Amino acid sequence: MSISIFHSARLFDGLNEAVIENASVIVEGNRIREVGANLTWTGDARRIDCAGHFLMPGLIDAHYHANTPSYDFYGTDRMHPALLAAHAGRLLTGALDRGYTTIRDAGGGDVGLKMALDAGLIDGPRFFYPGKALTQTGGHGDMRRRGAIEPCGCGAYAGVITRAVDGPDEMRKAVREEFRQGATQIKIFLSGGVSTDLAPIDMPHFTDAEITVAVEEAARRGSYVMAHCHTDEGARRCVELGVRTIEHGSLITADTAAMIAAAGAFVVPTLSAGELIGAHAAELGLPASSAEKIRAVNRRTLEAVEACAAAGVRLGLGCDLHGDAFLQKQNRELVLRGQVQKPVDVLRSATSVNAEIVQMQGQLGQITPGAYADMILLAGDPMTDLAVFDEPLRNILLVVKSGRLARDRRQS
Ligand SMILES: [Zn+2]
Repeated sequence: MSISIFHSARLFDGLNEAVIENASVIVEGNRIREVGANLTWTGDARRIDCAGHFLMPGLIDAHYHANTPSYDFYGTDRMHPALLAAHAGRLLTGALDRGYTTIRDAGGGDVGLKMALDAGLIDGPRFFYPGKALTQTGGHGDMRRRGAIEPCGCGAYAGVITRAVDGPDEMRKAVREEFRQGATQIKIFLSGGVSTDLAPIDMPHFTDAEITVAVEEAARRGSYVMAHCHTDEGARRCVELGVRTIEHGSLITADTAAMIAAAGAFVVPTLSAGELIGAHAAELGLPASSAEKIRAVNRRTLEAVEACAAAGVRLGLGCDLHGDAFLQKQNRELVLRGQVQKPVDVLRSATSVNAEIVQMQGQLGQITPGAYADMILLAGDPMTDLAVFDEPLRNILLVVKSGRLARDRRQS
């Protein structure tokens, strides 16, 4: 198998705070074979000089939406599948451009995209997906506009990114259906949201019995449930009912953070979504009520992340941005998290913690023997200044996925 040696780097392995100076990473095929300072290799190898640069695991975005090309969710819901797929291809390619070698889709990403990625038709990141996100009728994810009448009379609803289910039996069926289509995790909406005016943010979604069925069915598959949840009360329900990852978590208090930590659940804050939507609500065509909701939530979100970090909650990292224009700011999530966490903790969230979230601990998100050779080479030192991520297309010199130089921006 072919050998590549990335040498003379400053290296963060995704886990340890201590940076290894003059590090080499020996890659064999698509896996990492050896890592250390001053390694030697006598056989044939491709040598990649990393002197003066910073090598770290490829980034993982734990809350991405490949199948929502804009903030017009209603329009997306009615988009022709071929057009939607063309948009998704571009969004996935863009994530890899920005150093994300893995993404976890948070609703709408489906098996068709996974097959296109595996077939090499889209040059994008590794892809973990939930299929359609599950909402209750009239919940945050129910994309029918008020006044719309169901033509069939059965009242059931499934759009391209969400599906409405009511009652434990429908939930069980829907969860099994997503797993039949290869879903890697299940996404549910457990509170109202800020990007639509469909349900008040503090409205609890689903009954305990419905959520319990989703958790149970996912566990049977060796998988788990991720829940859209802004409220403190919703986060408590997540812990009590066995939801594994709490998405957004914008209003979590210190007491609830302690419960989450004790349960070993994850929180995936999405700060850049709040910041960007808050600043551009009107031009995105969001209703004034959404804009006000967003600004109110934003004011509390940093405190929630801080409370979680202080309580020892395992924090993932995700952008939750929609559409190509906003996704140019995908890496800003790391910069924003730097406001309340040490750089090394932010880097761990974006690599090894997120790898744990996608159930690939030891395989992704770390540069250690046996792991997949997914890495990025940076001009700049994120350990001292996370702002290096504000300009990913300039500062990320190499994106390595499965040992392949997927993007190479070094000056020759
Ligand atoms: Zn989302």
